Amino acid sequence: MPRDPGIDRYAGAYNHRKMRGGSKWSMHAYGCAIDFYAEPNGLRTRCPQALFCGTDYKDFLDIMEAHEWLPAIRLWGADAMHFQRARI
Ligand SMILES: [Zn+2]
Repeated sequence: MPRDPGIDRYAGAYNHRKMRGGSKWSMHAYGCAIDFYAEPNGLRTRCPQALFCGTDYKDFLDIMEAHEWLPAIRLWGADAMHFQRARI
């Protein structure tokens, strides 16, 4: 894990909005999604460019997933900042 992993950089949770570029409600509108460290884990950034794809962050993603916070980077391969507690 890097000296400053950035996983404490809160980037948003509840937000009454539609999915970006879509007409469905965002998981953020249901209050069951949270974002961390947005800048290097952008909405359209895929592996290996997204920071949270790195091996240093595998444990973080595993811990989040073990607690049912599903990492978007593992669900749809982008938006690595995003973790959610549900799937539609
Ligand atoms: Zn999000």
